[in-house]
Amino acid sequence: MARKFFVGGNWKCNGTAEEVKKIVTVLNEAEVPSEDVVGKFFLKGGAFTGEISAEMLLNVGIPWVILGHSERRSLLNESNEFVGEKVGYALSLGLKVIACIGETLQQRESGSTMAVVAAQTKAIAAKVSYWDNVVLAYEPVWAIGTGKVATPVQAQEVHLELRKWLHDNVGAEVAATTRIIYGGSVTGANCKELAGQPDVDGFLVGGASLKPEFIDIIKSAT
Ligand code: PGA
Repeated sequence: MARKFFVGGNWKCNGTAEEVKKIVTVLNEAEVPSEDVVGKFFLKGGAFTGEISAEMLLNVGIPWVILGHSERRSLLNESNEFVGEKVGYALSLGLKVIACIGETLQQRESGSTMAVVAAQTKAIAAKVSYWDNVVLAYEPVWAIGTGKVATPVQAQEVHLELRKWLHDNVGAEVAATTRIIYGGSVTGANCKELAGQPDVDGFLVGGASLKPEFIDIIKSAT
């Protein structure tokens, strides 16, 4: 079954009202299929100053959430298990999840990329029973916000391995239908070649999602 190309914009903690207005105008004027707004949250609501709960996202009509982003894993010490808990909780409420995984440069250089992403995926998969509402985002930490994009070959290699992991540990149907998207310094200039890889089903875009070139990235489906 064909996997529908998926592109998410991750604005992180950026954008003044003026900047947001500008990029929203550009997006609204472009001829692109529009989906939904994405949020991020802590776990259940409660005494967590400065955080957003899954319930709040749903309450304001935000259907998608990004979980497991490396900035949260590193800055806030979110463990694989905690990310898994959040994924399970989000899905149980009916939210759809972009679940992020990815290795650091040191892990890549020591040859443990697959072991790292498999462990991250395992903790997520343990909490997922309905994969239709999950998109996996492979985001090598060394490529996020650095301008150092993974080569199409590097991205394809990990995406293929992840699909095999899903096949062997979850099932053939889930492996064939789950979108695995790439994130890390995706731009209007490099998206087309990445999108041409058979197991790259879309992108999660940070910096470039705040610029008009985001339109080119959205349209890069092959
Ligand atoms: P980047 O961020 O595109 O700015 O590298 C990607 C992400 O963090 O999702």
